[in-house]
Amino acid sequence: MAKLLNVDLASGAAVYEDLKAEWSDLGGRGLIGALMTERVDPMVDPLGPDNLFIVAAGVLAGTAVPNGGRLSVGAKSPLTKGIKEANAGGVAARKLARLGLRGLAVSGQAAEPMVMYLNADGATLKPAGDLWGLGTYDLIGKLRAEYGDGVGIVSCGPVGELMYPNAAVVSTTPDFLPRTASRGGLGAVMGSKKLKAIVIDDAGANEVAVANPAQLRSAVTVLTNGIRTDQIMHYLRDSGTAMLVTLADMLECLATKNYSQGRFDDNYEISGEKMAWLAKTERPNMVMKHHCMPGCVVYCSTIFTDAEGNYVTSGIEFESLALLGSNCMINDIDMLAKIDHLCDDLGIDTMETGGAIGVAMEAGVLAWGDAQGAYDLIKGIPEGNENSKLIAQGVVATGNALGVERIPAVKGQGMAAWEPRVLKGTGVTYATSPQGADHTDGNALPGMNYDASSPEGQADLSKRLQKYFAAMDTIGMCQFPALAIDSKTMLKKKLVQAIGAVLGKSFTVDDLYELGWRVLKMEVAFNRAAGFTTEDDRLPEFFTKEVCEPSGHVFDVPTADLDGVFADA
Ligand code: SF4
Repeated sequence: MAKLLNVDLASGAAVYEDLKAEWSDLGGRGLIGALMTERVDPMVDPLGPDNLFIVAAGVLAGTAVPNGGRLSVGAKSPLTKGIKEANAGGVAARKLARLGLRGLAVSGQAAEPMVMYLNADGATLKPAGDLWGLGTYDLIGKLRAEYGDGVGIVSCGPVGELMYPNAAVVSTTPDFLPRTASRGGLGAVMGSKKLKAIVIDDAGANEVAVANPAQLRSAVTVLTNGIRTDQIMHYLRDSGTAMLVTLADMLECLATKNYSQGRFDDNYEISGEKMAWLAKTERPNMVMKHHCMPGCVVYCSTIFTDAEGNYVTSGIEFESLALLGSNCMINDIDMLAKIDHLCDDLGIDTMETGGAIGVAMEAGVLAWGDAQGAYDLIKGIPEGNENSKLIAQGVVATGNALGVERIPAVKGQGMAAWEPRVLKGTGVTYATSPQGADHTDGNALPGMNYDASSPEGQADLSKRLQKYFAAMDTIGMCQFPALAIDSKTMLKKKLVQAIGAVLGKSFTVDDLYELGWRVLKMEVAFNRAAGFTTEDDRLPEFFTKEVCEPSGHVFDVPTADLDGVFADA
């Protein structure tokens, strides 16, 4: 039976408990929802000792299900002030599962900086004053040297230590590169607890137990093949998620110049196609087709190098390129790679940061397209520069302080880069998701047999997608293969067959949606108790009034439709 480990940083006590029977199909985001609603006062100070910092593996972690090993982290968010889950690739979820753990719930605050070492013998806390202040790359190097190549590391950067609400949690890949669970400021919760890092060592641990191995094997064979051969997964493998820049531009829904238009003239310069061309022609050591976690069969990740072949960054994704690039009118992919490296090293969310810089550019703090200015602004966060401190507090704080009216955020969180006036189902998700304006909660991309820009039926579409992706975040499935699975009935049947094989019970497609709905209901209940109302389920007014060119659309989904999404939650 999977277990939970509760660690109180104030006393140092570590207590194991069996996962309750009614939580057996909850991992990742679902387990975070259950723990938060059961154990955390929704009115708690997000940066106080009574908030929980939760690290959770998905239900499929450590099994042979392809792409089923995302790591979720969660807490009450210092950015949204609501419940928050963010997830990342890396090795940590697999290692937690191999240690028999579905989740780790960290309470209290340590008196001094700590590193938690977790292995088959339990959790050990070690003073980490020498690591406090280190950037992500130096921290990973030191911990790897101390604990060896068999560990996974979950950490916060210098900005998390300073408790700014754009701080991310970092998780290491099999080759010790950083991946971030970026959204909602969860790195600041880690920093508030003075927990610099969790080192997870599964040496000597057993394989994850599966109730029906034969059923799992047959489902995995079909799933792996179906995901691998999907056309979109092919594109992702060839050009990384950055290939979505050209797609979004073509669809006229690429956030550009602080959401004032849906196309960026220089889109090719920041695209996956450009990266693939650089890799093929003139960049030594540049890698396309990299994977961020064990069991991935898509390989959409990348390693970006400079002209001499030196490492610059890895995993530079569509959202980072769009929000720091087109949204800020920056067209220099080398500068964007440098900025991405800096954000990873400081441990911050590139999306919230790009959104905040776009707002600051609209206020005239920097000129549009000023890549060096953006880099310097970010670099100044730990140095305490005034405008830098502002952007570290997120899109809304930046806009309010600078007197900007067009602030692209919902529930306090900066919006993802898919234009909600053009993809109106995505707009409904941004408005109503209990997580704030996240694309990963239900991005209604075209190709789903509906008119993306009609207001009709968007609320129903968003609700279905929100249930589906809440379930994906609960089982630990990466969102890219989840798109392939969603597009093919046969693959969805194989996925639920695999879940049933792991859990040892019948599990249907209806059960998958019911699981997602159960998770969403817990999140909505938490947020309502934290003071959220339907008035928080709205897009900023400018999206409903200002036309997005060249599409000519405004966001015109009726308010009653927005209110209907969670009316029965
Ligand atoms: S598909 Fe991409 S993001 Fe997902 S696990 Fe693979 S490399 Fe990571």
